[in-house]
Amino acid sequence: MSILSNRINNLSESATIKMAKLGRELAAQGVDVISLSLGETDFYTPEFVKDAAKEAIDKNFSYYTPVAGYADLRKAIAAKLKRENNLDYTFDQIVVSTGAKQSLANALLCLLNPGDEVIIPTPYWVSYSELVKLAEGTSVFINTSIDTDFKITPSELEAAITPQTKLFMFSSPNNPTGTVYTREELAALVAVFEKHPNIYIVSDEIYEHINFIGTHTSIAEFESVKDRVIVINGLSKAYAMTGWRLGFSASSKEIADACDKLQSQVTSATCSITQRAGVAAYSGGLETVQEMRKVFEKRRALVYELLSGIEGLKVNLPAGAFYFFPDVHSYFGKKTPSGEIIGNADDLALYLLHEGHVAVVAGSSFGDPKSIRISYATSEDKLREAITRLKKAFAALS
Ligand code: PMP
Ligand code: GLU
Repeated sequence: MSILSNRINNLSESATIKMAKLGRELAAQGVDVISLSLGETDFYTPEFVKDAAKEAIDKNFSYYTPVAGYADLRKAIAAKLKRENNLDYTFDQIVVSTGAKQSLANALLCLLNPGDEVIIPTPYWVSYSELVKLAEGTSVFINTSIDTDFKITPSELEAAITPQTKLFMFSSPNNPTGTVYTREELAALVAVFEKHPNIYIVSDEIYEHINFIGTHTSIAEFESVKDRVIVINGLSKAYAMTGWRLGFSASSKEIADACDKLQSQVTSATCSITQRAGVAAYSGGLETVQEMRKVFEKRRALVYELLSGIEGLKVNLPAGAFYFFPDVHSYFGKKTPSGEIIGNADDLALYLLHEGHVAVVAGSSFGDPKSIRISYATSEDKLREAITRLKKAFAALS
């Protein structure tokens, strides 16, 4: 019998992090692995942000900060939300956390009672369903497919709602599909939420600036639901700061205070130096992320062309984020050169790692067992080489 709690025994390890770990282990054995597994940009943190962190160290920002973050950081975030998203929040509605992942966990732990249902469109980011489990909620999935650009319709949303529905949780731009909901599509979903005033909405907007079809719309821009939206965002993607660990939520004051209380017992706050860097980032404009977006757009075109040349893959052209999510199920049931059968996307991801030396993530952990996720947040040279390897590995299946 395990000494560990049911809570942890029932939890899965993050699939993105697991594949990145497997890739690193293989690389440590001397294998030349190209990792397209982790959603992490290959850009550097902007100089002006690094300078702010260096200055903070020299000025002895070495002590516990307010649990929800320094007031000037929360004010800078409120100003960012106004400037970039046309959203009005006061600084005390912002809670800064150790990454957007913690902000998501805070929201779920503060809002869910056992058995409360959370509607999640699939494919979804790997941690959503696991964090719901941790908070003792029940995930209710709305399946989408590549044929409808992985979008849900208002009637599918309506059909998934029950008296137990507490939350709707989604990301736009989406990880892993890159799908972006337009303002009109969000308005149609809002019309459903207007009929159900007890449902709250977790809106994960961490890829807001990696959008190739227009400007970002936040569902919190719709006044009729704004008080029920918890906006999640952070520095990881827009400022290439995954390791610094800064995310935030913007919500009603009641929910913000609950998140503050939770953090007071769990982390006390995120790192003081990171927070000072965050003030610079959120006050510093969008030049660097706009440059990044242009580079991602070029890479997207390249990867789309290369992946479209692999037989048996069904490829979407993502509108945002930095992932492709091709349907690979035509390869299920085929044999590897060493005689193993590829039963599912997990087998395929392991085969592509061990035989092709390219790390990708199986779609099963994103709620879509027919696909794999390919991150293109790496250089064009590496992408060309990686996709050449993938093509060869796919061709070797019979
Ligand atoms: N949401 C989505 C959709 C993500 O892809 C990620 C991964 N970065 C996160 C949240 C968590 O980001 P963070 O690094 O800020 O914890
Ligand atoms: N969000 C990234 C991804 O999807 C980083 C890894 C993680 O936090 O799970 O790959």
